[in-house]
Formats: sequence, C-alpha cells, structure tokens
Amino acid sequence: MKKYVMAIDQGTTSSRAILFDRQGKPVRIARRDIQTSFPQPGWVEESAKDIWLSVVGSIEEAMEEENVQWDEIDSIGITNQRETTVVWDKKTMQPVYPAIVWQSRQTASLCDARSKKSDFIFKRTGLRLNPYFSASKIRFILDHIKNGQKRAEKGELLFGTVETWLIYKLTNGHSHVTDVTNASRTMLFNIRTRKWDPELLKIWNIPLKMLPKISPTAEDFGQAEFFKSNTHICGAIGDQQSALFGQTCFAKGESKNTYGTGCFMLMNIGDKPILSKHGLLTTVAWEINHHVTYALEASVFMGGATIQWLRDGLQIIKSTPESEKLALKVKDTDGVYLVPAFVGLGTPYWDNDVRAAFFGLTRGTSKEHICRAALEGVAYQIADSLRVMQDETKIKLKALRVDGGASANNFLMQFQSDILNTKVQLPVCVETTALGAAYMAGLFTGFYKSQAAIAKNHRYQKIYTPKMDKKLVAQKLAGWELAVASARNFKPHK
Ligand code: ADP
Repeated sequence: MKKYVMAIDQGTTSSRAILFDRQGKPVRIARRDIQTSFPQPGWVEESAKDIWLSVVGSIEEAMEEENVQWDEIDSIGITNQRETTVVWDKKTMQPVYPAIVWQSRQTASLCDARSKKSDFIFKRTGLRLNPYFSASKIRFILDHIKNGQKRAEKGELLFGTVETWLIYKLTNGHSHVTDVTNASRTMLFNIRTRKWDPELLKIWNIPLKMLPKISPTAEDFGQAEFFKSNTHICGAIGDQQSALFGQTCFAKGESKNTYGTGCFMLMNIGDKPILSKHGLLTTVAWEINHHVTYALEASVFMGGATIQWLRDGLQIIKSTPESEKLALKVKDTDGVYLVPAFVGLGTPYWDNDVRAAFFGLTRGTSKEHICRAALEGVAYQIADSLRVMQDETKIKLKALRVDGGASANNFLMQFQSDILNTKVQLPVCVETTALGAAYMAGLFTGFYKSQAAIAKNHRYQKIYTPKMDKKLVAQKLAGWELAVASARNFKPHK
C-alpha cells in the first residue's frame, strides 16, 4: 500500500525530507543544516557533496523516525534552491568545484562584460543580466579549473542545478536531467521554444554537451537506485514555483509571496510568457501533461534577513519573533522609514549600488520604532512589486497567499494587508514549497487525483483583511517613495 510521497526540499540553509500523506498533510519532517562559506567578499559557496549527504541523511531520518519502508512510498518530488550551480566529473561523479550559490556576486564582471547583450538575453530568457543566474557561474567554474573548457567540450564534465545533481546521484548516474522551471533560471533556456538556446550558449561559450536534458515538472526522472529502491522521482520544480503550486495558485492572476531570507512574489500569468517593462522576471511556473504555465516574479533581496539584521547586526532583539512584540509597543514608526537596501534593491529598481538607509530619526526614536520601520520596509518592497505586477498584467489581485519564516509575524502580515489593500491568506500547511513538489510527483503517478481535488483541499489558518484608513495608507506610501528615491540618490563614491 502506497501511503506517502517523499518531498525533498533542498534549500539554501537546509535540506529537508518530508513525508506527505494523501491529504497533503506533512506527517514527518527531517532536516539537516548546510554550511555556507564566504571565501571572498560577495562570494557564496557550498559543498555539493555536503548538499547530497544532507539530503541522504534527512531521507533516512524521516523514514526511520516514521518507520516507513520504500515500498510504502509512492514517489519522490524534489524542490530546490534555484540557480545554484554544480559542475561534476561524469566518470567519478565528484564535483570539480564548490557549488556557487544563487546569492553569490563572484561573477559580476563576467556579466558586465556581456552588458551589450542584456536586451537580447532578456527577450530570450525573461531574466535580467545578473550574476544571480547560472550561466555566468558555469563560465566561472570552467575558467577556474584546469582545462575546464576542453574537458566540458569532450563531454567529461556535467552541469546541473541542485535538482539535477540530486537526481544524478539518486539514480546512480543514470539520469542527467533538469525540469523546465530550473532550466528557466539558467539564462541558457529560451522561454518560448523551451529548449537550450544555441545563441545564449554562444554568448557564454558553454558546450551543449554538459547540459542536462529538459523535462516537464511532472515526469519520470528515474529510479532511486542509490537507495536500492523501486521508487521513482516523479516531480522536480524550483522552490518558488513549487510554493506557487503548493499554494494552489492554479488560476491566472493568483499570487503568492514567500517571506524567507529574501521575498519572492510570483503571479500565475497563464500559458503565455509576458515580458515585463518594469523589472519583473518571466519564468516557467510548471509543465504538466504538455500544458505549460508561466509566472511573473518579483525578487526582493532583503525580507526576513532585514529582521535577522535587527537581531545580529543591531542586536536590538534577541529573536526574530520579538520584532513583532516591539513593533506593537508603539502606535506607529513616528515618521521613521528603513529602506533595507543592504545588498542593493531588486524588483522593480534593480539597483546594485543603492545601500540601506534610515530616514526621519529624532531624539525620540526608540528601538520599537526601528523594529516597526524595518518590518514596514519589508512590506513596502512587496507593495512596489505588486503595483508593477498589477499594472503590467491588468489583473487586480483578490488576495495574496503567503508563506515562509516571516509570514509568522502577525504585525507584518496585517501591515502588508493594509498597505496592499488586499486580503492576505496564510495556509494551514506552511510547508508549501515541499508540498508543491509532493503534489507534482503525486499528480504524475495518480497518488493525488487532480489539481481540482488539491485546490479543494487547500485551507487557511489565518486571513488578514485591510483595516488602515485609506488616506493614511496613501501618506505612508508617499513617504516610502520619497525614502527610496533619497536612498538611491545617496551614492557618495559614484
Ligand atoms: P529561507 O528558506 O530563506 O532560509 P525561511 O522561510 O526559513 O527562510 O525564513 C527565515 C527568515 O524568516 C529569517 O530571515 C528570519 O529572520 C525570518 N523570520 C522568522 N520568523 C520571523 C518572525 N516571527 N518575524 C519576522 N521575521 C521572521
């Protein structure tokens, strides 16, 4: 009897294995943390081997703790940190360089050198030329290992984003395959033909031989031979797309925002890619039964990480949940704004040079005001992104579905609802990222009957409705706009 789908959620800071039952309920979660290294300023790397071992460890722990055998597991679904790049030796299956993490800026000069091609790249990929995506990271690795280019051309080296690396290891090297959502974040993938694009490969001088085959998100990706198991991997999907699916945003216009380290808001835009004029990315959301769905995506670099800075940098709170308590001790920010541009601003500004700034400080400013301004600064960035999204799609959002660590903050969620003038919905199952991958695999095998049945089963634990006076909202948004413009003007060394 098949009782569960095993979801593997391989994130930036941890790997988790979660057993989901037929109702989409997580019955067992096992987790392993991942070490991140910062070898030089702006560089972010992880050990691809440790990523693999952390996944193996969490799978074994989940099964042991729940006392589950492989023949009770219907299928495996994988979701992963996107863009992070692994290159390995085909024969030895050993990585030839550390995994370069999505956040890493170490390939900025490789991108700058191709700035004349940025419009062309955007039209083909829906992505902004930026070190964030995989192409420049592959180029960097081939340039930094001995005979990298030659070995790749001979077919001795293979590239994969993290799901590809995990599938390769799980199938004992039998499947070298990615899915369309992860492929759409490499900057080598044409979002219209949904194939590797020869001209993009030329721009980065990357041999086709090292790239994986591209599959739909619900597909047979191979058998988990590593575990001597007959269970197959039947779903693979990038983490943000997976959360969109796990939040059951199946209809055009439905949107979710994940409040993790950064914030990622995705809107389902149906079966045609729209190219944004104002800094949104276009990405494949999923492909099921030959039917492709696209999404527009807003990337905000500092979400929950802003609150981490209050804790670790300013040290005005001991834990991130304490930010809510402090924010609620004052009736407003007393005119204080924080523009949390600690690593520049993403959507809609894409300004790498702007830095964070406080505005409106007085002798009366307290840590409570600062906390409140920091939380509000996270919400304003989402408001900026959503405004652009609504303008470009002409879709008025009915509700924003939320998840991620900071969605547990009631003050933040209420303020978000107020400032967007939209309902904010927090689901019962907050493991939406893993759930999306589980649904993907289970839909392929029939463990889950249909998307309609899944949507019917989706429940919310909390719904926030807008309460703030509209005039006050307009005033606050005007203040924020001024704060962002002032922060962007402050470039003393430019
Ligand atoms: P990731 O997947 O990016 O590692 P998570 O979804 O686990 O992120 O969320 C962690 C982030 O959420 C951290 O940046 C943390 O500061 C923030 N966070 C967690 N709980 C709260 C809270 N109650 N209030 C505000 N921020 C929070």
